[in-house]
Amino acid sequence: MNRRHAVKLIQSAIALAVIGLVGASPVASAAGKETIGISMPTKSSARWISDGNNIVKILKEKGYNAEIQYAEDDVPNQLAQIENFMTKGVKVLVIAPIDGTTMTNALQKAADKGIKVIAYDRLIRNSKNVDYYVTFDNFQVGVMQANDIEKTLDLKSGKGPFNIELFAGSADDNNASFFLEGAMSILKPYMDKGKLVVRSKQVTMAKIATLRWDGAVAQARMDNLLSAHYTKDHVDAVLSPYDGMSLGIISSLKGLGYGSGSLKMPVVTGQDAEIASVKSIIHGEQHSTIFKDTRELAKITVNVVEALVAGKKPGTASTKSYNNGVKEVPSYLLKPVSVDVSNWKPILTGNGYYTESQLK
Ligand code: BGC
Repeated sequence: MNRRHAVKLIQSAIALAVIGLVGASPVASAAGKETIGISMPTKSSARWISDGNNIVKILKEKGYNAEIQYAEDDVPNQLAQIENFMTKGVKVLVIAPIDGTTMTNALQKAADKGIKVIAYDRLIRNSKNVDYYVTFDNFQVGVMQANDIEKTLDLKSGKGPFNIELFAGSADDNNASFFLEGAMSILKPYMDKGKLVVRSKQVTMAKIATLRWDGAVAQARMDNLLSAHYTKDHVDAVLSPYDGMSLGIISSLKGLGYGSGSLKMPVVTGQDAEIASVKSIIHGEQHSTIFKDTRELAKITVNVVEALVAGKKPGTASTKSYNNGVKEVPSYLLKPVSVDVSNWKPILTGNGYYTESQLK
């Protein structure tokens, strides 16, 4: 993604805030007993379980049949589940793709059957048959992760040089590039000035991607980085895009004594506000995470489902869009929120997302 596109995305988020899409009244309910198929990537991360539960709950309350499948990060499995939904006669497919580039044929079949498609959280690429995209401002997620590093290391006042290592998510997930682009928009100027040093020199997506966002893969890479580049020096920050990876990275760091004695735990970022990571933040290990209220995403998704079932354009479809390679997909962006030890309580328990006892 280029910078112009990034700016466009931020404008989209602002436009959405202004028009108040979140609160937009849904199109008059067309719920009969239509069936909606929901295809989620994996149960290995709590966020997708909440996403799925939230969507199913709201759909059922509105009188829809909701069918949900998790594909356990296996692409052929996800495609088979989608085919199965189609044979069951779903009216709308809500899909969070594992690999956003693999759906072209399946979605052509869906279009031929008149089935509408919503890309959920992750963009589906290379298909003209994606009707809507509902997500968070993914570029901003990366900006917020990098802001945490910038603020904690006090880079703005000219402090440094500090050592940093960079991790990205799964390269086949469109979001991974947005997160990285957002983070690099803040970090790169400090890298260019020599205030942030990547000792491994691994900075490109090709070098730093983590297939399927796997925490064990991130941990193994961190082990390698530490043994190859940090035997005499220490690392001060690690850009991690997702909590499950952050925990793997922190395990690796702890294995080498970081976080005890004089060896400070580096600033490790994250995303999703998963319970284990919030606990880690409270215990002073992980430094921050990004909270994305999946309840809100589910509400918007169901509004869009209702509109599509009724054959109408959802709310304000004229907002800016994401280009998926072959089309501009109308996109709804929600705002992410940065969470650290100073604000986890009001943000995560204040609105009932978690109870305090879940985070003890
Ligand atoms: C989502 C993130 C999540 C990651 C790993 C991304 O597509 O936007 O919220 O951390 O996938 O599951």
